Amino acid sequence: MAVSKMTVTEKHEHGPKQADLDRCVHCGLCLNACPTYRDLGVEMDSPRGRIYQMVQVADGAPISPSYIEHIELCLACRGCESACPSGVQYGRMVEAARAEIESHLERPWKSRLARRLIFGHLLQSRVTLGAAGTLLYLYEASGLKRLVRSMGLLKLLGKAGELEQLAPQAEPPFFFSQIGKTFPARGERRYRVAFMAGCIANVAFARLNEATVRVLQQNGCEVVIPKEQGCCGALHVHAGLRADARKLARNNIDAALNGGFDAIITNAAGCGSTLKEYGELLEEDPDYAGKAAQFSRLMKDVTEFLAGIELNRDMRPVAATVTYQDSCHLAHGQRVRSAPRKLLAAIPGLTFREMPFADQCCGSAGIYNVLQNEMAMRILERKMESVGASGASVVATANPGCILQLQAGVRMHGNGQKIVHVVELLDQAYRAG
Ligand code: SF4
Ligand code: SF4
Repeated sequence: MAVSKMTVTEKHEHGPKQADLDRCVHCGLCLNACPTYRDLGVEMDSPRGRIYQMVQVADGAPISPSYIEHIELCLACRGCESACPSGVQYGRMVEAARAEIESHLERPWKSRLARRLIFGHLLQSRVTLGAAGTLLYLYEASGLKRLVRSMGLLKLLGKAGELEQLAPQAEPPFFFSQIGKTFPARGERRYRVAFMAGCIANVAFARLNEATVRVLQQNGCEVVIPKEQGCCGALHVHAGLRADARKLARNNIDAALNGGFDAIITNAAGCGSTLKEYGELLEEDPDYAGKAAQFSRLMKDVTEFLAGIELNRDMRPVAATVTYQDSCHLAHGQRVRSAPRKLLAAIPGLTFREMPFADQCCGSAGIYNVLQNEMAMRILERKMESVGASGASVVATANPGCILQLQAGVRMHGNGQKIVHVVELLDQAYRAG
C-alpha cells in the first residue's frame, strides 16, 4: 500500500458549518428516529439536543466533558437525517463536531497509544492486519476460543470478555492475495468495474469478498481489484480523524480513478458512505477536489449497482425465509433502500418477510459497539426482538459491521438465525444454477 504511516493527531479542524447548523428549526420530528433518545429519553441525547449543543459551541461555549459525552454517545447512524423534513445534514455535522473535539482534546497517553496503533497502523497496513488475522485464526483453530468460552473465562475478563463476543472470525486464506488481480466477466463483458476490498474485510470477510466478485462476474462484469487500494478512512472519519481520512482518500483515488471503470464497487455500506463522500472530504484540496468528486460519482454499493443493471436471472431456488436489516449507512447515508429488497425478490424460492423497524440501527455503527458497548447492546436487544417478530430464519444485510453485530445478537437473544450479506444469497443462487 502506498500510504505512509501517519500520526493520529488532528489540528485546526473546524466544527459544523454555520449554514448546516442554521437549517435545524428545532421541530423535534427526528426524535423518535433516534435510538439513543428512544433509550434514554434525554433531550441532550437526541438529534435536536445535540445540534443545540453544537450551536452553543459554535457561539463560543467551551468544549466541555458533557458535550463530548453526548456527541460520543451518538451512533452517527443518520436515522435523524431520514426523518428530518428540513433536510438537516446531521451526519456531516456530527463528523465535523467530532473532528473539532479531536483537535482540542488531549487524551490520556494510553488512549493516544491505542488510537495510534489502531488508526495509524493496524487499519493501514496489510502486513499488520494479516498478522493480527493469523493470531486470531490461531486463537480459534487451536481450540483456545472454545475453551475460554466453555469455561466461562470471559466473565472473569469483565469488559474485555464482553467485547470478545463482537470479535470477527479470521477467514484464511485472506483476500489480500487477490488484490491486484483482474477477474474476467462470465460470458459477454458488459461492464468493467473496480472492487474496493476494505481493510479488516480482507481478513474477516474474505469469503464475502470472493462471493461479491463471483456475483459481479456472473453479471457480465470484468472485476479489477486495484493494487494500491487501502482502508477507506470511514472509521477515521467517525473518530474525528479527518486529516488521516483525507490521506487515505487520496490514496484510493490514485489507485482506482483512472482505470476506465464504469463503476467502483463496495460491499460494505459503512465504507461506501465515506467513499461516496470523498468529494466533500477533499473539497478544499485544490489538487484532489475534482478527482474526489469524480470518484464519488463512480462509487456504488454492490446492491445498488446490481439492482440498476439487467440482472442475470439464471439462478436456482434458495429455499429460505429471509428478512432484511437496513444498514444505516446504506439506508440513511446513501438513501439505498429498495435495491437490496429488489435483489432478494429476484431470487427464486426465497420468501421475504419485512421486520418491524428494519431501518433502525442494530448498534454496530463502526466501532461504536466496542466504545459504547452498553448502549450498543441495549439497541441490539431491541433489534433482535424485531428479527424474532419477522419469523425469518435468515437475516440479510449489506454491511460487514452489521453482520458481526447481528451474529452477536443471535448468540445472545436469537433462535439460531443465520446472518448473511445480500450478495451471499445471490451467490448461492448462481452457484446452485
Ligand atoms: S434535525 Fe430536523 S427534524 Fe430534528 S429538530 Fe432539527 S429540523 Fe427538526
Ligand atoms: S445519528 Fe443516530 S444516534 Fe445520532 S442523533 Fe441521529 S438518530 Fe440519534
